[in-house]
Amino acid sequence: MRLSRYFLPTLKETPSEAQIVSHRLMLRAGLIRQHAAGIYTWLPLGFAVLRKIEQIVREEQNRAGAQELLMPTIQSADLWRESGRYDDYGKEMLRITDRHDRDLLYGPTAEEVITDVFRNAVRSYKDLPKTLYHIQWKFRDEVRPRFGIMRGREFLMKDAYSFDLDSDAARHSYNQMFVAYLRTFARLGLKAIPLRAETGPIGGDLSHEFIVLASTGESEVHCHRALLDKTIPDDVDYDGDLQPLVNDWTGLYAAADDMHDVTKAASLGGSLVTARGIEVGHIFHFGTKYSKPMGATVTGPDGEDVTVAMGSYGIGVSRLVGAIIEASHDDNGIIWPESVAPFHVGLLNLKAGDTATDETCARLYQALGPDRVLYDDRDERAGAKFAAMDLIGLPWQVIVGPKGVAKGMVELKNRATGAREEVSVDSALARLA
Ligand code: ATP
Ligand code: MG
Ligand code: MG
Ligand code: MG
Repeated sequence: MRLSRYFLPTLKETPSEAQIVSHRLMLRAGLIRQHAAGIYTWLPLGFAVLRKIEQIVREEQNRAGAQELLMPTIQSADLWRESGRYDDYGKEMLRITDRHDRDLLYGPTAEEVITDVFRNAVRSYKDLPKTLYHIQWKFRDEVRPRFGIMRGREFLMKDAYSFDLDSDAARHSYNQMFVAYLRTFARLGLKAIPLRAETGPIGGDLSHEFIVLASTGESEVHCHRALLDKTIPDDVDYDGDLQPLVNDWTGLYAAADDMHDVTKAASLGGSLVTARGIEVGHIFHFGTKYSKPMGATVTGPDGEDVTVAMGSYGIGVSRLVGAIIEASHDDNGIIWPESVAPFHVGLLNLKAGDTATDETCARLYQALGPDRVLYDDRDERAGAKFAAMDLIGLPWQVIVGPKGVAKGMVELKNRATGAREEVSVDSALARLA
């Protein structure tokens, strides 16, 4: 993409309404614009990142055996009356009435919708287990929308739902998602810590929150230091027994404020870390909380009806954009992990209009591929170009100036380390291919 044509409205001034760094940078780097409180437009650069995150989430869901579908954003209130949650959910639910005076709502989550789909389609235990998910916009009328897309009212969530014959089988589905979450966050360049959590309004008996440490996070986290250094294997057999892997991650102390056990934590001594964190994912095993009132049953092996055991599993896809920036930035701007970067390379023409630099840039642009390169071909000062590229945080910069080009050389800069190297055009191409 040529920057001269790209819709990238960056800001020079720090927007005064933004209290945390990710919100400031998302506005300054032209990723989002606020439409109304907690409701945002995703501009091309922000939207590209959102799509990349979504794709990684999708790949890891699919790898774990979940199947993608798409449920509506607008739901029927009647289903929520069946589960008993219509009144319980309170003011966070945006309630809508249509022209026939029917009660609708903008979905804050989708347990009722998926349970309805399931009960109308699945009859036999032979069709179990099933884990279904979608990546869809949600609306929650948050009392205090803040920190930009981090606590929006409209936000993009991946929510998965598992259906099993009994609680043990449901535990396996839960473990699959647990491991898929560890892999997803690792691919996004994040350290996310699973914490035992309260089940809250979703209900149920087993739950973990996944928290990314960040000083601006809204949750307080207490955990064993060793959790920060754990890695997740590349080759997970999702059909095999995942319990040892899950035990390995849940054996160390880790709790949010509401589950914090001061005595137990004190026994960790110097290994205890207390920090702030951002909730990026939350998984629940809740058994028959929805299947029972909604009559989601299958015929079991002995011919009797069995109420299915369920779980639900959320990832805050849009919140992750902010969480990644909180975890990866410096004074000059964003530092995207390669896996989610909107472009791989920023190409800076320091003397646009000069035949030699134009030709070298054209060659690099073509060879690296216009969809992987953001080419700053504008007639601007070098300083402004450096600042803009650092602000938007692409992993690599290729700096093309007349002096270097005369020797057949360009400069290659790594945004994360700041390291610069003078290399030949060919070797820049080879390195960035
Ligand atoms: P929070 O504690 O931040 O209000 P939650 O516990 O209410 O989140 P869940 O119902 O667990 O949220 O939803 C699953 C995921 O959706 C959360 O882990 C979070 O990443 C994301 N999420 C929830 N509310 C918002 C929001 N208002 N804006 C952006 N993402 C959100
Ligand atoms: Mg909430
Ligand atoms: Mg929460
Ligand atoms: Mg939660």
